[in-house]
Amino acid sequence: MKEKDRVHCSFCGRDKKDTNVLIAGISGHICDNCILQAGEIVKEEVKPNETDYSITIHKPTEIKKHLDEYVIGQEDAKKVLSVAVYNHYKRVAKTFISQDIEIEKSNVLLVGETGTGKTLLVKTIAKLLNVPFCIADATVLTEAGYVGEDVESILSRLLQAADFNVNKAEKGIVFIDEIDKIARKGDNPSITRDVSGEGVQQALLKLLEGANVSVPPQGGRKHPEQKMISIDTQNILFICGGAFAGVEKLIGKRLNTNAIGFKTQEATDMSKESNLLQYITPSDIRTFGLIPELIGRIPVITHLNPLDKVALRRILTEPKNAIIKQFITLFEMDNIDLSFDKEVLDFIVEKAIEYKLGARGLRSICEAILLDHMFEIPTKVVIEKLRIRLDYAKKRFEDSKLKQLKVAS
Ligand code: ADP
Repeated sequence: MKEKDRVHCSFCGRDKKDTNVLIAGISGHICDNCILQAGEIVKEEVKPNETDYSITIHKPTEIKKHLDEYVIGQEDAKKVLSVAVYNHYKRVAKTFISQDIEIEKSNVLLVGETGTGKTLLVKTIAKLLNVPFCIADATVLTEAGYVGEDVESILSRLLQAADFNVNKAEKGIVFIDEIDKIARKGDNPSITRDVSGEGVQQALLKLLEGANVSVPPQGGRKHPEQKMISIDTQNILFICGGAFAGVEKLIGKRLNTNAIGFKTQEATDMSKESNLLQYITPSDIRTFGLIPELIGRIPVITHLNPLDKVALRRILTEPKNAIIKQFITLFEMDNIDLSFDKEVLDFIVEKAIEYKLGARGLRSICEAILLDHMFEIPTKVVIEKLRIRLDYAKKRFEDSKLKQLKVAS
């Protein structure tokens, strides 16, 4: 056979028989191997950051409406967040350009007990806006050079969430959880450095105020000589969350002392209310131990209410992806029509409260009640309907490991 008649890959010269697939072009061929390699080169060379990325701006009422579908209660937090997010992205989109007025970033602080929906709120917003989103845990952060994660690692994670598209990452949302855990540790001017407290707060400042930060891409390119990527944090929205356990006392104290020795009727009424968090101000956060510079970079503060029985009962069945709806869907996949007696739902809520498990506990209780059915049903005789009654639920719960939690708490 003449050389010109031999069917081969025009790139690597492999013969057709040595390839898995050989694709014909107008005047040549390419083999599967070369296609894969070329794909890798394209991925490396065409930096996605060069493609621009735009965001649809949602109005505050639209954002709130969307949040209502997934998050129960927390009206104040929803409203404040919706406005902050709207303002932030309006600012990013620069729909109105004024030479004189520079709109500052509206980073947000969510204060509320653990398991009240802080992460859920932020996640739901990021999903609606379709912007890259990452969660960082402030407790693992330490000052650069110490054991633990540098604050820059937060941006590496955001970059990953943005598929290494810098442009996209620069418009993302970062949720920094447990920000209260990096509060200054008392007034102790210790000789040892506070590497996981005030030091981290200082390091975070740079991120929050908007700066060009060099970030190791981590896991992006597998080359040892990792190029640092520069990320401008100017348009990244930082939402911080924390329980700030004990801050109510500080608020109560402030509300009472403001009355200069006398407790006004109003102040007494306020302190009586169960959730003093609603009166939280930057000064309380400062007394708690966050440095004023950092608080200044988080101008929007809002609170989440503790979840009561009514809220937990609604969380169980009402949100778009409520836990009960998820289990019903799981059983549907095995062609089983799962239903719960109303008393069972009330029982689940009662136990979540009694064992102080909060909203997260609702899921564990459901798992405990349904475990045997989920284990057996896929291989068992066909049943079409499964109704969970109170006595069955009680028994399953009593037999489960959850029972032991009460002793522990
Ligand atoms: P936090 O961040 O405040 O510790 P999360 O947002 O992670 O709490 O909440 C834990 C879980 O509890 C969520 O995944 C969700 O299933 C449920 N949950 C908590 N609060 C609410 C709420 N207000 N509405 C609906 N579900 C909630």
